[in-house]
Amino acid sequence: MALTDRLHAEIAHRETGIAELTRDLIRVPTINPPGENYREICDLLARRLSARGFAVELLRAEGARGDSDRYPRWNLVARREGAAPGPCVHFNSHIDVVEVGQGWTVDPFEGLIRDGRVYGRGACDMKGGLAASIVAAEVFADLCPQFRGAIEISATADEETGGYGGVAWLAEKGYFTPDRVQHVIIPEPLNKDRICLGHRGVWWAELETHGRIGHGSMPFLGDCAVRHMGAVIAEMEQHLFPALAARRTAMPVVPEGARQSTLNINSIHGGQQELPSDFTGFPAPVVPDSCRMVIDRRFLIEEELEEVRAEFTEMLERISARRPGFRYDLRDMHSVRPTMTDRDAPVVTAVAAAIRRVLGADPDYVVSPGTYDQKHIDRIGRMKNCIAYGPGILDLAHQPDEWVGIADMVQSAQVMALALADLLPR
Ligand SMILES: [Zn+2]
Repeated sequence: MALTDRLHAEIAHRETGIAELTRDLIRVPTINPPGENYREICDLLARRLSARGFAVELLRAEGARGDSDRYPRWNLVARREGAAPGPCVHFNSHIDVVEVGQGWTVDPFEGLIRDGRVYGRGACDMKGGLAASIVAAEVFADLCPQFRGAIEISATADEETGGYGGVAWLAEKGYFTPDRVQHVIIPEPLNKDRICLGHRGVWWAELETHGRIGHGSMPFLGDCAVRHMGAVIAEMEQHLFPALAARRTAMPVVPEGARQSTLNINSIHGGQQELPSDFTGFPAPVVPDSCRMVIDRRFLIEEELEEVRAEFTEMLERISARRPGFRYDLRDMHSVRPTMTDRDAPVVTAVAAAIRRVLGADPDYVVSPGTYDQKHIDRIGRMKNCIAYGPGILDLAHQPDEWVGIADMVQSAQVMALALADLLPR
């Protein structure tokens, strides 16, 4: 039997094992924030992988944003060497999950297996993907011990809160440099037939408009910072939002509504703080002297960060030129440039061929509207040959009664194993 057929059959045979590994991972509640039980889940993975011939490193991201003695940021990197030197294929999964929230009908941390699904917080995002990649790597190494190169599996902290105590920290330490790792697959829940090439960019900023404090009965003696912010919003409604909506991208972003530039007003705070709920009095009559808005601007591969910032600043300057007393400060909070791996990059063509073989259909190529850990691999690691590919339905991520389909995990694992056979010479 050909190797691809043997890989396919052996992974089908390990269906129960994939489901049980997913269940075991769900049973370690790694809620972030604050980032609980990272060490426990890394220990579980270390036991499993070291018994299967992987050299395992447990790494605490000391000094990283979010790391503390109370909530240490533990990460695992496991590496299985082949029979001779060669390229390295790396699977990266985040181990953190978001809070539980309301509306569950099953125990979120039991890992219930029922009707071909595994339920629980993190089932699809992304402990099912982690389990699929582990079984794919184990089966490939078992059936093809003469392969050349290496397979790595990393399990990393804090993706849900930006990845600074996880992939960013590992990338800073050199774990994702092109001389060390040649192909990266991130098994996020993009669906088993889709290859995610990258993500849009993001620019977060805080805008503050200034005024002058005064008595609320004589507002003409003060200067209302909230009205100045109102002028900004009016200008955005009239000019900026229509301009962004008209700016279309060649990136295959899903959902389609995100195939354009977008801007969200994240928050606005102006004037007095809201009073505590147990305070029974009235607020004082004061003209607000400050109003702050946080914006979340998502931009396209066709745009530069500098242009995005300049477009916003020019709008503020136009208002400034015609509106008496208009003063503002604009502070950058956070930015990530867009990234999109080429469709003919080796990891893309290998996974695409494996999808055709396992599922009998062409893959869809997609781009994520929001960022994920690929941003650090791209920017810090300078590694371009990277995609997200994994089982699970993206819409179920962060929802109550989150689940992952067992058959989907099996098929994704088959795709990953076939991609390994394609990428690692023998
Ligand atoms: Zn995720």
